[in-house]
Amino acid sequence: MGSNRDLGRNELREEERYAIADFLDGIPALAESAGFSPRVYGEIDGHPLLCLTRETDRPEVLYLSAGIHGDEPAGPKAIEQLLRERALREEVGWVVFPLLNPGGLRRGSRENPEGIDLNRDYQVQRAAETRAHRALLEAEDWSLAASLALHEDWEARGPYLYEHNPDRQPHPCRLLLETLGAHGPVEDGPEIDGWPTAGPGLIHPPSEIELRTEWPEQLFLLSRFTRMSYTLETPSALPFLRRVACAADCVRSFACLHRWESPPAA
Ligand SMILES: [Zn+2]
Repeated sequence: MGSNRDLGRNELREEERYAIADFLDGIPALAESAGFSPRVYGEIDGHPLLCLTRETDRPEVLYLSAGIHGDEPAGPKAIEQLLRERALREEVGWVVFPLLNPGGLRRGSRENPEGIDLNRDYQVQRAAETRAHRALLEAEDWSLAASLALHEDWEARGPYLYEHNPDRQPHPCRLLLETLGAHGPVEDGPEIDGWPTAGPGLIHPPSEIELRTEWPEQLFLLSRFTRMSYTLETPSALPFLRRVACAADCVRSFACLHRWESPPAA
């Protein structure tokens, strides 16, 4: 991906800072009140690594994660808000990772405390955060209808989306782009982050994990646990609470499976 963006922003404005310990302390009770089972699957820098699950009698399970980059604080806050509002749709099952990189978020750095970009680490697994996450995924062997990762881009002006849907299944892509558009113009142009765009605010990067040596979280999921993956990027330049609202709305739309649409015939 784009080399500048891979450097990250590595600083947070005052309005974007929140107490990580308080945030993580509050998540389990919020999760339980929303019908989720919280569990701790590791500890980093004195902070728990949290996974929240909620099963239903339906087979569809959605995966949601945030905070793999510590200089992207809106995603974890969006998940907290959705739990507080009990807004994670009840008709589907959920596997939720509200903050994958607590040490990075505490420092305001893209990388973990050892300087490792976790979102390039799913093959080599240099970081304890990645090893714990991968071990849990492999132990549970979840079969996921789709995954959504909440990210932020310090160079973008508008929000945008990465989509992996190699089997051309019914998908939430248009719904997600409409949701983003309601929060302002999506990122546009022939290229975003070094990738050619498939339409305004939309990137279809290669889905073959063997083409990559530094596996990101979503490609790892795509290789084993799901056949549809989405990554939301909100622009760091927007006010913090607007990014939180945009990400939360995106998650709400993502879970409206009855509104997913079939791709046009090839
Ligand atoms: Zn990111």
